Amino acid sequence: MYSSGSNQPIIVLKEGTERSKDKEAQFNNIAAAKAVADAVRSTLGPKGMDKMLVDSMGDVIVTNDGVTILKEVDVQHPAAKMVVEVAKTQDTECGDGTTSAVVLAGELLKLSEDLIDSNIHATVITSGYRMAADKAVEVIKSMAVDAVDDEMLKKVAMTALVGKSVGGEQGHLADVIVKAVRAIEGDDGKVNTDHIRVEKKVGGVIKDTDLVEGIVVDKQRVHSRMPKSVSNAKIALISVAFENKKTEMDAEISITDPMAMQSFLNQEESFLKSLVDKVVSTGANVVFCQKGVDDLVQHYFAKSGVFVCRRLKQSDMEDLARATGGRIVGNILEMQASDLGSAALVEEKLVGTESMTFVTGCKEPKALTIIIRGGTEHVIDEVDRALEDGIRVAGVAIEDKRVVAGAGAAEIEVGLRLADYASTVGGREQLAINAFAKAMEIIPWALAENAGIDSIDAIIKLKNAHEKKKDGKNYGLNLDTGEAVDMLKADVVEPIRVKIQAIDSAAEVANMILRIDDVIASRRAPPMNPMGDPSLGGPGMGGIGGMM
Ligand code: ADP
Ligand code: MG
Repeated sequence: MYSSGSNQPIIVLKEGTERSKDKEAQFNNIAAAKAVADAVRSTLGPKGMDKMLVDSMGDVIVTNDGVTILKEVDVQHPAAKMVVEVAKTQDTECGDGTTSAVVLAGELLKLSEDLIDSNIHATVITSGYRMAADKAVEVIKSMAVDAVDDEMLKKVAMTALVGKSVGGEQGHLADVIVKAVRAIEGDDGKVNTDHIRVEKKVGGVIKDTDLVEGIVVDKQRVHSRMPKSVSNAKIALISVAFENKKTEMDAEISITDPMAMQSFLNQEESFLKSLVDKVVSTGANVVFCQKGVDDLVQHYFAKSGVFVCRRLKQSDMEDLARATGGRIVGNILEMQASDLGSAALVEEKLVGTESMTFVTGCKEPKALTIIIRGGTEHVIDEVDRALEDGIRVAGVAIEDKRVVAGAGAAEIEVGLRLADYASTVGGREQLAINAFAKAMEIIPWALAENAGIDSIDAIIKLKNAHEKKKDGKNYGLNLDTGEAVDMLKADVVEPIRVKIQAIDSAAEVANMILRIDDVIASRRAPPMNPMGDPSLGGPGMGGIGGMM
């Protein structure tokens, strides 16, 4: 440390700041990132195990979805947090491949340790990793095949769903997924999956999960004397309550004369009546109200034969507006016929033992709702996550129109081609590219490991098939037999975006972590304990070496 004239060291960092430098910092960060990868590795693939997550409130999630696990776990270490970010990015970009991305990042970092140990500088490793990632993307693109028909889409969806706890209903859910993404496919070839609504209703079995072409809201009509179904529906969407205005201030109205009392009540009544009259005069025969609906108003609407639902969610209102072409109105008395939306049919129907409202034959044909059924909330939530993945992946496949063989096929091929490539690259980067090639094997390795298959045997069989067989590049691991088989024929396929993004983001986070050679962590202000001794307080950032 630099010394001043009086031999006093200059203090740059605040007292209590934790710091780790150089190799120590690198190894700490790598250890943290590896720990995250190890935490999800056992969930990879169709034979992966589930994890049960219990939060501080005691709520339980049972899942096999990498990003869900990482989002729920409270990760403390900064490098570990960076890895969790990779999973989130992968999820937003592709909806799948999160576990793979994290596991690959962990392996890249693990293999970099040896390189660091043999005094290869981090900049050399990161540049080699970057070159390898670019080459890997080329290899993936070159081995891709077209995916344009529904049959291929279903295979893509099945591959994304495999291993999820959906009671063996992958096939049925894949059918629902294909129908859904096809229905919302835009003329420009884009698939905006936000337009698929999901409603969950506990009860029944997973196989009852189905697609409705229209909007389904989890509400019933407010009055039993209203019609159960309205065809040729003219729909009013109203964001305010049907009730008398409350006086702004806490005013007290004192009435002495019974006649005055009556007239006051009459006045309130006639105001409510005028609201109903206004809505009916626009031609509306269905009302969706985001807020409450007064009993008297319900009565008037029932008398006029109008179907009314109340207390809808804001998102329901917005979806209804989009689907029916209606406008959400905030001032009932200013409502006009042009504000109304339309649908061929609005109907209250039983789903299991409870009724929901179905709005079908909408103006906008791309409005869709999937109703998820299943025995318990946990089951339904996992089906929801699985469907979301499947829908995103199938959407990506429609957009990209290209898929590659899964079950480790793509990774083995990339590994082999990278090894070839490394030998053409002079200099020390070659070592990093070789490490990258080796790291790719972690995917088939973990798939085998999780299926109880000898990983070393599996990798050897796969490499042999890739080098020697015709169309060998598509050979992946059959997890029941441990044999290498052509995955295009075995129907295990994934969109190229999932693979490319996983490799890219794994390389990126590994490089980010490798470039850090100094971690400076300021201590959080420790909570004061009753004795007033701050040293008993908690450490900042979970300690540089600690994690999770
Ligand atoms: P991720 O979060 O990375 O998507 P998954 O648990 O979904 O993790 O596992 C994905 C991996 O499982 C991919 O490498 C995929 O090719 C592989 N896989 C999917 N279905 C099969 C199958 N039937 N046989 C072998 N591997 C499969
Ligand atoms: Mg997956």
